[in-house]
Amino acid sequence: MLDADFFRRWMAAVAAAVDREADHLTELDSAIGDADHGSNLQRGFGAVTAVLEKESPQTPGAVLMLAGRQLISTVGGASGPLYGTLLRRTGKALGDAPAVTEEQLAEAFAVGVAAVAQLGGAQAGDKTMLDALLPAAAALGTSPGAARDAAEAGAAATVPMQARKGRASYLGERSIGHQDPGATSSALLIAALAGTSGAGAENGGDA
Ligand code: ADP
Ligand code: MG
Repeated sequence: MLDADFFRRWMAAVAAAVDREADHLTELDSAIGDADHGSNLQRGFGAVTAVLEKESPQTPGAVLMLAGRQLISTVGGASGPLYGTLLRRTGKALGDAPAVTEEQLAEAFAVGVAAVAQLGGAQAGDKTMLDALLPAAAALGTSPGAARDAAEAGAAATVPMQARKGRASYLGERSIGHQDPGATSSALLIAALAGTSGAGAENGGDA
């Protein structure tokens, strides 16, 4: 079972990955956006880590809802409300259970991803974070490791796409040939999940 502590460690792992990859994310966003994706997420997940330490929410749902609220209030760019919605809606779908199964997380995450699609109006192939999140959600029922692989493949697959949503869409055909920053950070989010101990095979695989 995945408890509140597991979800706090997941969010801390995301913050660490975003710190490590901030320059790369900003570089990707300078090619087809406005060069702020790394700093946006660093500020956002730094604030998430701080608020989780301060308030210490006691259920998986409460951890993700608080993290999502914090992203929405600290990240000005498009990615703040979108990632905020992903975490808030995933958390809401988990309810108030003190611990959840991997299967419950997979179901809740699919609800969160659907909410991102609804909020941003994007679909698969539009060269957005959804190109990593949708395949990850589909694979999470198999295992967190499968979801990480699917998200990384999904992010790589955005390179030849033309952006149809967000700032990158203003570039039209010139958006082709670059990996989408949001799909890249989504792959970090899922890799952090797969790397958090307690997920997948490390707890016997039947959590
Ligand atoms: P901004 O575009 O406001 O500068 P960021 O640079 O932080 O915000 O985030 C850009 C990323 O947000 C894009 O790479 C893309 O993945 C994602 N994004 C933008 N618009 C949408 C949308 N409508 N739906 C889904 N994802 C989107
Ligand atoms: Mg940007």
